[in-house]
Amino acid sequence: MDFTPERSDLLDKDRRHLWHSMLPYNAASPPMIVTEGAGSWITDIDGNRYLDGMSGLWCVNAGYGRKELAEAAYAQLLALPYYPLSQSHVPGIRLAEKLSEWLEDEYVVFFSNSGSEANEAAFKIARQYQQQHGEPGRHKLVSRYRAYHGGSAGALSATGQAQRKLKYEPLGGGFLHVRPPDSYRRPDGMTEEQFNLLCAQDLEDAIIWEAAESVAAVIMEPVITGGGILVPQQRYLDRVQEICARHGVLLIIDEVICGFGRSGRKFGHHNFGLKPDIVTMAKGLTSGYLPLSATAVRRSIYERFGSQGDYGHFRHVNTFGGNPAACALALKNLEIIEREGLVERARILGERLHAEMRTLLAHPLVGDIRSFGFLLGIELVADKATKQPASAETVKGIIGQCKSRGLIIGRNGDTVAGFNNVLTFCPPLSSTDEDVTFICETFKEVMNNQL
Ligand code: PLP
Repeated sequence: MDFTPERSDLLDKDRRHLWHSMLPYNAASPPMIVTEGAGSWITDIDGNRYLDGMSGLWCVNAGYGRKELAEAAYAQLLALPYYPLSQSHVPGIRLAEKLSEWLEDEYVVFFSNSGSEANEAAFKIARQYQQQHGEPGRHKLVSRYRAYHGGSAGALSATGQAQRKLKYEPLGGGFLHVRPPDSYRRPDGMTEEQFNLLCAQDLEDAIIWEAAESVAAVIMEPVITGGGILVPQQRYLDRVQEICARHGVLLIIDEVICGFGRSGRKFGHHNFGLKPDIVTMAKGLTSGYLPLSATAVRRSIYERFGSQGDYGHFRHVNTFGGNPAACALALKNLEIIEREGLVERARILGERLHAEMRTLLAHPLVGDIRSFGFLLGIELVADKATKQPASAETVKGIIGQCKSRGLIIGRNGDTVAGFNNVLTFCPPLSSTDEDVTFICETFKEVMNNQL
Protein backbone atom coordinates (compact mmCIF):
# COMPACT_ATOMS: atom_id res chain seq x y z
CA MET A 1 0.00 0.00 0.00
CA ASP A 2 1.36 3.43 -0.86
CA PHE A 3 0.43 6.02 1.73
CA THR A 4 3.25 8.38 0.86
CA PRO A 5 1.28 11.58 -0.02
CA GLU A 6 -0.98 11.19 3.01
CA ARG A 7 2.04 10.44 5.18
CA SER A 8 3.98 13.55 4.16
CA ASP A 9 0.92 15.74 4.63
CA LEU A 10 0.29 14.29 8.08
CA LEU A 11 3.94 14.64 9.06
CA ASP A 12 3.87 18.26 8.00
CA LYS A 13 0.78 18.89 10.16
CA ASP A 14 2.32 16.87 12.98
CA ARG A 15 5.43 19.06 12.89
CA ARG A 16 3.35 22.22 13.02
CA HIS A 17 0.70 21.30 15.58
CA LEU A 18 1.52 18.28 17.72
CA TRP A 19 3.84 18.51 20.72
CA HIS A 20 5.23 15.02 21.45
CA SER A 21 6.16 13.78 24.86
CA MET A 22 9.86 13.20 25.54
CA LEU A 23 11.07 14.54 22.15
CA PRO A 24 12.78 17.79 21.13
CA TYR A 25 10.74 19.73 18.55
CA ASN A 26 13.41 19.20 15.89
CA ALA A 27 14.06 15.50 16.53
CA ALA A 28 16.27 13.95 13.86
CA SER A 29 13.76 11.34 12.72
CA PRO A 30 10.03 11.97 12.36
CA PRO A 31 7.64 10.09 14.67
CA MET A 32 6.13 6.84 13.53
CA ILE A 33 2.44 7.33 12.68
CA VAL A 34 0.80 4.21 14.02
CA THR A 35 -2.53 3.26 12.51
CA GLU A 36 -3.43 -0.23 13.73
CA GLY A 37 -2.58 -2.93 16.22
CA ALA A 38 -3.36 -6.64 16.54
CA GLY A 39 -1.97 -8.91 19.23
CA SER A 40 1.60 -7.83 19.92
CA TRP A 41 2.01 -6.12 16.56
CA ILE A 42 1.43 -2.56 15.40
CA THR A 43 1.30 -1.22 11.84
CA ASP A 44 2.42 2.23 10.75
CA ILE A 45 0.92 4.41 8.07
CA ASP A 46 3.28 2.97 5.45
CA GLY A 47 2.15 -0.56 6.24
CA ASN A 48 5.33 -1.51 8.16
CA ARG A 49 4.70 -3.96 10.98
CA TYR A 50 6.52 -3.97 14.29
CA LEU A 51 6.41 -6.24 17.29
CA ASP A 52 5.73 -3.83 20.12
CA GLY A 53 8.19 -5.08 22.71
CA MET A 54 7.21 -2.22 25.06
CA SER A 55 3.39 -2.67 25.00
CA GLY A 56 3.14 1.02 24.03
CA LEU A 57 4.29 2.64 27.25
CA TRP A 58 4.34 -0.56 29.37
CA CYS A 59 0.56 -0.85 29.30
CA VAL A 60 -1.07 -2.91 26.52
CA ASN A 61 -1.05 -6.05 28.68
CA ALA A 62 -3.92 -7.81 26.89
CA GLY A 63 -2.54 -6.92 23.44
CA TYR A 64 -3.94 -4.80 20.63
CA GLY A 65 -7.15 -5.21 18.65
CA ARG A 66 -9.45 -6.61 21.34
CA LYS A 67 -12.93 -6.08 19.96
CA GLU A 68 -14.46 -7.16 23.27
CA LEU A 69 -12.84 -4.20 25.03
CA ALA A 70 -14.16 -1.73 22.49
CA GLU A 71 -17.64 -3.27 22.74
CA ALA A 72 -17.66 -3.09 26.55
CA ALA A 73 -16.84 0.62 26.41
CA TYR A 74 -19.34 1.22 23.58
CA ALA A 75 -22.22 -0.44 25.43
CA GLN A 76 -21.49 1.57 28.55
CA LEU A 77 -21.18 4.83 26.60
CA LEU A 78 -24.67 4.25 25.23
CA ALA A 79 -26.12 3.37 28.63
CA LEU A 80 -24.39 6.04 30.73
CA PRO A 81 -21.32 7.86 29.37
CA TYR A 82 -20.59 9.88 32.46
CA TYR A 83 -21.45 10.43 36.05
CA PRO A 84 -19.10 11.61 38.80
CA LEU A 85 -18.14 9.28 41.60
CA SER A 86 -19.32 11.73 44.22
CA GLN A 87 -22.39 9.53 43.58
CA SER A 88 -22.04 6.03 42.16
CA HIS A 89 -22.45 3.87 39.07
CA VAL A 90 -22.58 0.14 38.43
CA PRO A 91 -19.27 -0.39 36.57
CA GLY A 92 -17.47 1.65 39.25
CA ILE A 93 -18.91 -0.51 42.04
CA ARG A 94 -18.16 -3.76 40.22
CA LEU A 95 -14.61 -2.72 39.34
CA ALA A 96 -13.81 -1.60 42.90
CA GLU A 97 -15.05 -4.97 44.15
CA LYS A 98 -13.01 -6.82 41.50
CA LEU A 99 -9.83 -4.93 42.35
CA SER A 100 -10.23 -5.81 46.04
CA GLU A 101 -10.55 -9.44 44.97
CA TRP A 102 -7.38 -9.16 42.83
CA LEU A 103 -5.54 -7.53 45.72
CA GLU A 104 -6.46 -10.51 47.92
CA ASP A 105 -7.17 -8.26 50.89
CA GLU A 106 -9.68 -5.66 52.08
CA TYR A 107 -9.15 -2.46 50.11
CA VAL A 108 -11.36 0.49 49.21
CA VAL A 109 -10.70 2.03 45.80
CA PHE A 110 -10.48 5.67 44.68
CA PHE A 111 -10.44 6.14 40.89
CA SER A 112 -8.46 8.65 38.82
CA ASN A 113 -7.24 8.70 35.20
CA SER A 114 -3.48 8.24 35.25
CA GLY A 115 -0.68 6.76 37.30
CA SER A 116 0.47 10.23 38.34
CA GLU A 117 -2.98 11.09 39.65
CA ALA A 118 -3.24 7.76 41.49
CA ASN A 119 0.02 8.62 43.26
CA GLU A 120 -1.06 12.20 43.99
CA ALA A 121 -4.23 10.85 45.60
CA ALA A 122 -2.13 8.36 47.61
CA PHE A 123 0.09 11.16 48.96
CA LYS A 124 -2.89 13.26 50.02
CA ILE A 125 -4.59 10.25 51.62
CA ALA A 126 -1.39 9.34 53.51
CA ARG A 127 -0.94 12.87 54.86
CA GLN A 128 -4.57 13.33 55.82
CA TYR A 129 -4.73 9.88 57.42
CA GLN A 130 -1.71 10.65 59.57
CA GLN A 131 -3.27 13.94 60.68
CA GLN A 132 -6.57 12.27 61.53
CA HIS A 133 -4.77 9.44 63.26
CA GLY A 134 -3.25 11.74 65.87
CA GLU A 135 0.03 12.28 63.99
CA PRO A 136 -0.37 15.81 62.58
CA GLY A 137 3.38 16.29 62.02
CA ARG A 138 3.70 13.41 59.57
CA HIS A 139 3.84 14.92 56.09
CA LYS A 140 7.13 13.80 54.48
CA LEU A 141 7.21 11.22 51.71
CA VAL A 142 10.19 9.00 51.06
CA SER A 143 10.99 7.36 47.72
CA ARG A 144 14.11 6.12 45.98
CA TYR A 145 16.57 7.51 43.49
CA ARG A 146 16.13 6.01 40.02
CA ALA A 147 12.36 5.55 40.60
CA TYR A 148 9.69 7.12 38.39
CA HIS A 149 6.30 7.91 39.91
CA GLY A 150 4.76 10.35 37.42
CA GLY A 151 4.91 13.80 35.86
CA SER A 152 2.63 15.96 38.03
CA ALA A 153 4.12 18.05 40.82
CA GLY A 154 3.83 15.56 43.69
CA ALA A 155 4.48 12.46 41.61
CA LEU A 156 7.48 14.14 40.00
CA SER A 157 8.74 15.19 43.42
CA ALA A 158 8.64 11.52 44.43
CA THR A 159 10.47 10.60 41.23
CA GLY A 160 14.18 10.01 41.78
CA GLN A 161 15.48 10.67 38.26
CA ALA A 162 17.08 14.08 38.03
CA GLN A 163 16.71 14.40 34.26
CA ARG A 164 12.94 14.44 34.61
CA LYS A 165 13.05 17.28 37.14
CA LEU A 166 15.76 19.64 35.96
CA LYS A 167 14.29 22.98 34.84
CA TYR A 168 10.96 22.27 36.59
CA GLU A 169 12.09 22.70 40.18
CA PRO A 170 11.24 23.67 42.82
CA LEU A 171 8.39 21.17 42.98
CA GLY A 172 6.44 20.03 46.04
CA GLY A 173 8.16 20.19 49.41
CA GLY A 174 8.61 17.35 51.88
CA PHE A 175 9.93 14.67 49.52
CA LEU A 176 13.20 12.85 50.07
CA HIS A 177 15.00 10.01 48.35
CA VAL A 178 17.12 7.09 49.42
CA ARG A 179 19.50 4.66 47.75
CA PRO A 180 17.89 2.14 45.33
CA PRO A 181 18.83 -1.56 45.48
CA ASP A 182 20.85 -1.53 42.25
CA SER A 183 22.79 -4.68 43.04
CA TYR A 184 24.78 -4.68 39.80
CA ARG A 185 26.38 -1.38 40.79
CA ARG A 186 26.92 -2.19 44.46
CA PRO A 187 30.23 -1.16 46.05
CA ASP A 188 33.16 -3.52 45.47
CA GLY A 189 33.63 -6.17 48.11
CA MET A 190 30.00 -6.24 49.18
CA THR A 191 27.74 -9.24 48.65
CA GLU A 192 24.33 -8.72 47.11
CA GLU A 193 22.76 -9.56 50.45
CA GLN A 194 24.90 -7.04 52.34
CA PHE A 195 24.06 -4.40 49.76
CA ASN A 196 20.32 -5.04 49.93
CA LEU A 197 20.45 -4.73 53.70
CA LEU A 198 22.50 -1.54 53.39
CA CYS A 199 19.81 -0.04 51.11
CA ALA A 200 17.11 -0.96 53.62
CA GLN A 201 19.20 0.55 56.40
CA ASP A 202 19.56 3.70 54.30
CA LEU A 203 15.76 3.98 54.34
CA GLU A 204 15.56 3.54 58.06
CA ASP A 205 18.37 6.04 58.66
CA ALA A 206 16.57 8.63 56.53
CA ILE A 207 13.35 8.12 58.51
CA ILE A 208 15.20 8.43 61.82
CA TRP A 209 17.34 11.40 60.78
CA GLU A 210 14.33 13.24 59.39
CA ALA A 211 12.43 12.44 62.66
CA ALA A 212 9.99 9.58 62.19
CA GLU A 213 7.18 11.72 63.55
CA SER A 214 7.52 13.92 60.46
CA VAL A 215 7.31 11.05 57.91
CA ALA A 216 3.91 10.09 56.46
CA ALA A 217 4.72 7.38 53.93
CA VAL A 218 7.24 5.55 51.78
CA ILE A 219 6.40 4.94 48.11
CA MET A 220 8.10 2.34 45.98
CA GLU A 221 7.53 -0.03 43.09
CA PRO A 222 8.12 -3.71 43.95
CA VAL A 223 10.82 -3.56 41.26
CA ILE A 224 12.07 -0.24 39.90
CA THR A 225 11.00 -0.42 36.25
CA GLY A 226 11.60 2.86 34.41
CA GLY A 227 14.84 3.36 36.32
CA GLY A 228 16.33 0.27 34.68
CA ILE A 229 14.61 -2.92 36.02
CA LEU A 230 16.27 -2.95 39.46
CA VAL A 231 15.17 -6.15 41.20
CA PRO A 232 15.57 -6.22 44.99
CA GLN A 233 16.08 -9.29 47.12
CA GLN A 234 13.23 -10.58 49.24
CA ARG A 235 15.11 -9.58 52.40
CA TYR A 236 15.20 -5.93 51.24
CA LEU A 237 11.43 -5.71 50.93
CA ASP A 238 10.91 -7.67 54.16
CA ARG A 239 13.02 -5.06 55.91
CA VAL A 240 11.18 -2.17 54.21
CA GLN A 241 7.84 -3.53 55.37
CA GLU A 242 9.14 -4.00 58.89
CA ILE A 243 10.79 -0.53 59.05
CA CYS A 244 7.60 1.19 57.89
CA ALA A 245 5.49 -0.67 60.44
CA ARG A 246 7.92 0.02 63.30
CA HIS A 247 8.08 3.76 62.56
CA GLY A 248 4.37 4.27 61.91
CA VAL A 249 5.05 5.11 58.25
CA LEU A 250 2.55 3.99 55.58
CA LEU A 251 3.82 1.81 52.74
CA ILE A 252 2.53 2.83 49.32
CA ILE A 253 3.28 0.32 46.57
CA ASP A 254 3.22 1.71 43.02
CA GLU A 255 1.90 -1.08 40.78
CA VAL A 256 1.46 1.16 37.74
CA ILE A 257 3.78 -1.07 35.68
CA CYS A 258 4.22 -4.18 37.84
CA GLY A 259 0.47 -4.76 38.27
CA PHE A 260 -2.11 -6.71 36.27
CA GLY A 261 -0.07 -9.80 35.60
CA ARG A 262 3.14 -8.23 34.39
CA SER A 263 5.14 -9.80 37.21
CA GLY A 264 3.71 -13.31 36.78
CA ARG A 265 1.41 -12.71 39.76
CA LYS A 266 -1.66 -10.49 39.81
CA PHE A 267 0.35 -7.70 41.47
CA GLY A 268 4.09 -7.30 41.75
CA HIS A 269 4.03 -7.12 45.54
CA HIS A 270 2.37 -10.56 45.72
CA ASN A 271 5.72 -12.04 44.70
CA PHE A 272 7.23 -10.72 47.92
CA GLY A 273 4.35 -11.22 50.35
CA LEU A 274 4.10 -7.47 51.02
CA LYS A 275 1.08 -6.02 52.82
CA PRO A 276 0.93 -2.44 51.50
CA ASP A 277 -1.25 0.19 53.13
CA ILE A 278 -1.96 1.78 49.76
CA VAL A 279 -1.59 0.36 46.24
CA THR A 280 -1.60 2.58 43.15
CA MET A 281 -2.30 1.26 39.67
CA ALA A 282 -2.99 2.46 36.13
CA LYS A 283 -1.63 1.35 32.70
CA GLY A 284 -2.50 -2.39 32.57
CA LEU A 285 -5.81 -1.78 34.38
CA THR A 286 -7.38 -1.03 30.98
CA SER A 287 -4.47 -2.41 28.92
CA GLY A 288 -4.10 1.23 27.84
CA TYR A 289 -7.38 1.25 25.87
CA LEU A 290 -8.86 4.10 27.94
CA PRO A 291 -7.43 6.26 30.73
CA LEU A 292 -8.14 4.93 34.21
CA SER A 293 -6.18 4.55 37.43
CA ALA A 294 -6.87 3.54 40.99
CA THR A 295 -5.61 4.16 44.50
CA ALA A 296 -6.53 1.18 46.69
CA VAL A 297 -6.48 1.93 50.39
CA ARG A 298 -6.69 -0.47 53.29
CA ARG A 299 -10.14 -0.35 54.88
CA SER A 300 -8.70 0.55 58.31
CA ILE A 301 -7.15 3.68 56.76
CA TYR A 302 -10.30 4.55 54.83
CA GLU A 303 -12.25 4.41 58.08
CA ARG A 304 -10.32 7.43 59.35
CA PHE A 305 -12.04 9.54 56.69
CA GLY A 306 -15.38 9.94 58.43
CA SER A 307 -17.06 13.06 59.70
CA GLN A 308 -14.36 14.43 61.96
CA GLY A 309 -15.14 18.13 62.05
CA ASP A 310 -15.66 19.90 58.75
CA TYR A 311 -12.72 18.45 56.87
CA GLY A 312 -12.66 14.77 57.84
CA HIS A 313 -13.55 13.31 54.44
CA PHE A 314 -11.20 13.09 51.46
CA ARG A 315 -11.73 16.42 49.72
CA HIS A 316 -10.27 15.41 46.37
CA VAL A 317 -12.18 16.13 43.17
CA ASN A 318 -11.45 14.27 39.95
CA THR A 319 -13.97 15.02 37.23
CA PHE A 320 -13.14 12.10 34.96
CA GLY A 321 -11.78 9.62 37.49
CA GLY A 322 -13.66 6.34 37.27
CA ASN A 323 -15.43 7.16 34.02
CA PRO A 324 -18.13 4.48 33.59
CA ALA A 325 -16.94 3.40 30.12
CA ALA A 326 -13.35 3.12 31.33
CA CYS A 327 -14.53 1.04 34.33
CA ALA A 328 -16.63 -1.24 32.09
CA LEU A 329 -13.65 -1.70 29.78
CA ALA A 330 -11.33 -2.43 32.73
CA LEU A 331 -13.73 -5.10 34.01
CA LYS A 332 -13.69 -6.77 30.60
CA ASN A 333 -9.90 -6.46 30.51
CA LEU A 334 -9.58 -8.25 33.85
CA GLU A 335 -12.05 -10.89 32.63
CA ILE A 336 -9.86 -11.50 29.55
CA ILE A 337 -6.71 -11.70 31.66
CA GLU A 338 -8.39 -14.30 33.89
CA ARG A 339 -10.07 -16.24 31.07
CA GLU A 340 -6.90 -16.53 29.00
CA GLY A 341 -4.63 -17.18 31.99
CA LEU A 342 -2.44 -14.20 31.07
CA VAL A 343 -0.95 -13.88 34.57
CA GLU A 344 0.43 -17.40 34.38
CA ARG A 345 1.35 -16.86 30.74
CA ALA A 346 3.43 -13.80 31.73
CA ARG A 347 5.36 -15.95 34.17
CA ILE A 348 6.01 -18.68 31.59
CA LEU A 349 6.94 -16.29 28.77
CA GLY A 350 9.08 -14.23 31.14
CA GLU A 351 11.04 -17.29 32.22
CA ARG A 352 11.60 -18.26 28.61
CA LEU A 353 12.62 -14.74 27.55
CA HIS A 354 15.07 -14.54 30.43
CA ALA A 355 16.53 -18.02 29.79
CA GLU A 356 17.07 -17.32 26.08
CA MET A 357 18.51 -13.84 26.60
CA ARG A 358 20.87 -15.01 29.33
CA THR A 359 23.15 -16.55 26.71
CA LEU A 360 24.02 -12.94 25.82
CA LEU A 361 25.82 -12.53 29.16
CA ALA A 362 28.95 -13.66 27.32
CA HIS A 363 28.60 -10.71 24.91
CA PRO A 364 31.19 -7.96 25.56
CA LEU A 365 28.52 -5.24 25.64
CA VAL A 366 26.19 -7.00 28.09
CA GLY A 367 26.94 -6.20 31.72
CA ASP A 368 23.82 -7.54 33.42
CA ILE A 369 20.45 -9.08 32.63
CA ARG A 370 17.55 -8.68 35.08
CA SER A 371 13.99 -9.87 34.88
CA PHE A 372 10.74 -9.74 36.80
CA GLY A 373 7.88 -11.72 35.25
CA PHE A 374 7.53 -10.67 31.63
CA LEU A 375 9.80 -7.65 32.08
CA LEU A 376 13.44 -7.76 31.11
CA GLY A 377 16.31 -5.30 31.35
CA ILE A 378 19.67 -5.71 29.64
CA GLU A 379 22.32 -3.32 30.93
CA LEU A 380 24.85 -2.42 28.25
CA VAL A 381 28.41 -1.52 29.21
CA ALA A 382 31.46 -0.30 27.32
CA ASP A 383 33.74 -2.20 29.70
CA LYS A 384 32.64 -5.19 31.76
CA ALA A 385 35.42 -4.79 34.33
CA THR A 386 34.72 -1.13 35.17
CA LYS A 387 30.97 -1.37 34.32
CA GLN A 388 31.29 1.91 32.43
CA PRO A 389 27.92 2.37 30.73
CA ALA A 390 27.78 1.89 26.96
CA SER A 391 27.65 5.17 25.05
CA ALA A 392 24.33 6.71 24.08
CA GLU A 393 25.25 6.12 20.41
CA THR A 394 25.75 2.40 21.00
CA VAL A 395 22.48 2.04 22.91
CA LYS A 396 20.49 4.07 20.39
CA GLY A 397 22.18 2.23 17.49
CA ILE A 398 21.05 -1.15 18.84
CA ILE A 399 17.48 0.11 19.37
CA GLY A 400 17.47 1.52 15.82
CA GLN A 401 18.71 -1.75 14.32
CA CYS A 402 16.03 -3.68 16.21
CA LYS A 403 13.41 -1.29 14.87
CA SER A 404 14.62 -1.63 11.29
CA ARG A 405 14.11 -5.40 11.71
CA GLY A 406 10.57 -4.88 13.08
CA LEU A 407 11.19 -4.99 16.84
CA ILE A 408 10.50 -2.11 19.20
CA ILE A 409 12.32 -2.13 22.53
CA GLY A 410 12.83 0.55 25.18
CA ARG A 411 15.72 2.38 26.80
CA ASN A 412 15.70 3.22 30.48
CA GLY A 413 17.86 4.28 33.37
CA ASP A 414 18.98 7.71 34.46
CA THR A 415 20.56 10.19 32.08
CA VAL A 416 22.02 12.52 34.67
CA ALA A 417 23.66 9.69 36.62
CA GLY A 418 24.97 8.34 33.28
CA PHE A 419 23.06 5.06 33.43
CA ASN A 420 20.58 5.44 30.59
CA ASN A 421 21.98 2.23 29.21
CA VAL A 422 19.36 -0.39 30.07
CA LEU A 423 17.45 -1.92 27.17
CA THR A 424 13.94 -2.82 28.29
CA PHE A 425 11.50 -5.47 27.09
CA CYS A 426 7.86 -5.38 28.19
CA PRO A 427 5.78 -7.18 25.51
CA PRO A 428 2.01 -7.78 25.77
CA LEU A 429 1.16 -10.66 28.13
CA SER A 430 -0.86 -12.18 25.29
CA SER A 431 2.26 -12.59 23.13
CA THR A 432 2.48 -15.87 21.26
CA ASP A 433 5.41 -18.29 21.48
CA GLU A 434 6.34 -17.17 17.95
CA ASP A 435 6.40 -13.54 19.12
CA VAL A 436 8.91 -14.42 21.83
CA THR A 437 11.00 -16.35 19.31
CA PHE A 438 10.95 -13.28 17.06
CA ILE A 439 12.05 -11.00 19.92
CA CYS A 440 14.94 -13.27 20.92
CA GLU A 441 16.15 -14.04 17.39
CA THR A 442 15.95 -10.43 16.23
CA PHE A 443 17.69 -9.04 19.28
CA LYS A 444 20.45 -11.65 19.19
CA GLU A 445 21.05 -11.01 15.50
CA VAL A 446 21.46 -7.29 16.21
CA MET A 447 23.77 -7.96 19.14
CA ASN A 448 25.88 -10.35 17.10
CA ASN A 449 26.31 -7.62 14.50
CA GLN A 450 28.00 -5.49 17.17
CA LEU A 451 30.86 -7.99 17.57
N1 PLP B 1 4.31 5.15 38.29
C1 PLP B 1 5.09 4.42 37.49
C2 PLP B 1 5.89 3.29 38.07
C3 PLP B 1 5.17 4.70 36.13
O1 PLP B 1 5.97 3.99 35.32
C4 PLP B 1 4.40 5.76 35.60
C5 PLP B 1 4.45 6.10 34.16
O2 PLP B 1 5.21 5.59 33.39
C6 PLP B 1 3.60 6.51 36.48
C7 PLP B 1 3.57 6.17 37.82
C8 PLP B 1 2.79 7.66 35.99
O3 PLP B 1 1.76 7.18 35.18
P1 PLP B 1 1.02 8.15 34.14
O4 PLP B 1 1.99 8.40 33.02
O5 PLP B 1 -0.18 7.37 33.73
O6 PLP B 1 0.68 9.40 34.88
